[in-house]
Amino acid sequence: MSLFLAAAAGCSPDKTGSDANANPLAGSETLVQISTIDAVLNGLYDGVTSLETLKEYGDFGIGTLAGLDGEMIGFDGDFYQVRSDGIAYLVADNMETPFAAVTCFDSDLEIELPQITSYEQLEQFLDAALPTDNIFYAVRIEGTFSYIKTRSVPRQEKPYPPLVEVTAQQPVFEFNDVAGTIAGFRSPAYVSGVNVPGYHLHFLTEDRSAGGHLLELATQEAVAKIDYTFEFLMILPGGDSDFYHLDLTQNKQAELEQAEK
Ligand code: ZN
Repeated sequence: MSLFLAAAAGCSPDKTGSDANANPLAGSETLVQISTIDAVLNGLYDGVTSLETLKEYGDFGIGTLAGLDGEMIGFDGDFYQVRSDGIAYLVADNMETPFAAVTCFDSDLEIELPQITSYEQLEQFLDAALPTDNIFYAVRIEGTFSYIKTRSVPRQEKPYPPLVEVTAQQPVFEFNDVAGTIAGFRSPAYVSGVNVPGYHLHFLTEDRSAGGHLLELATQEAVAKIDYTFEFLMILPGGDSDFYHLDLTQNKQAELEQAEK
């Protein structure tokens, strides 16, 4: 790749507003999503978008990798995969994701968090600080945590089982007195079926060695940065893919609760 192309890709800090993203369809305030959460719940784990392409839409986000191979977390343009061994690996540009959401992170609100002792308390505190439930927010929390509990998911082989069957045996990881970054999104209730309503957060240790899908936490000193996100771009798997043949008419909310919590 030439130097010119490298500079043009992804989120550009020297541009503002809708020009900040190199992709003409997505501005810096756009949440760009690959596939749908219900496709994942239905076991559609084949990769559909390369990380190289995904990074053109954002420098910050979460998702999973082809084959449901772990939990993905990205910020400042670096994306990591926390596999079922709990270890974080840098994701190569040629790897593919079946489901991800990214944006160009640009903080609109910075809040010093009080001592928070549970995930539920974090949700309540952030909800009270946000101006509305009806837009998307990218959420980035940095600091030290007295407790973090995460999970990951093991890579699956075809025929793929539904997500709830995989998460029933998910490996769980606990951290005490750990520094790191939480990244993810708060989505409105009306995205049900498309994305995860409410908070969906992943964690990466400061030394970028471990992390996962966040299940529980207690903070020591932490700061939350929030990026208000008003635009939404959904990119569905194209071609005559398995996505064409899924039954996406069922309400999967109960399965989502079970798989994500
Ligand atoms: Zn997750």
